[in-house]
Amino acid sequence: MNLVYIGLGSNMDDRARNIRTAIEHMRNSKGLKVLRVSSFYRTEPMGYEDQDWFLNAAVELQTSLLPFQVLELLQSIEQKMERSTPVKWGPRNIDLDILFFGDKIVEEPDLTIPHPLVEQRRFVLEPLVELAPNGIHPIHKKTFQELLDELGNAQKVEKIQGDS
Ligand code: AMP
Repeated sequence: MNLVYIGLGSNMDDRARNIRTAIEHMRNSKGLKVLRVSSFYRTEPMGYEDQDWFLNAAVELQTSLLPFQVLELLQSIEQKMERSTPVKWGPRNIDLDILFFGDKIVEEPDLTIPHPLVEQRRFVLEPLVELAPNGIHPIHKKTFQELLDELGNAQKVEKIQGDS
């Protein structure tokens, strides 16, 4: 069994609904046990800035599946939700990323775990720290809370009260 953290993001259509739908699909996926869901966060877009703010959240789940099997499940959820991404880093109705998979390190062409750039993204770290401040990044050997503290708050991230 591994404790796995998934990052969710949406900035198209009804963003909260998209995130809730993706979580519902995860709850219904054989082999995934959703343990906890973070609050939802409104976050300023990074990379390609001429787009709406995102809604981001994180999910903690337990699984005995392999990392590639979990990736496949997440991709099938994205497909079911008819994910459309016309522009790299641009608007998307749902984006699901494996952030951490126990203390596993995976470096394959199609899968990198821990998810690269976690430590540079406040929109990932804020919901993650809410769930697991003492979780450890297996490469940097720092807690998620330490990574967030080091990052600072240049990127705007607002917790939405009571919406998870
Ligand atoms: P994106 O469009 O940013 O969601 O990127 C999707 C691609 O990233 C997929 O083709 C995955 O194979 C690849 N990928 C690499 N590492 C990960 C990860 N940790 N979680 C999810 N997708 C990943």
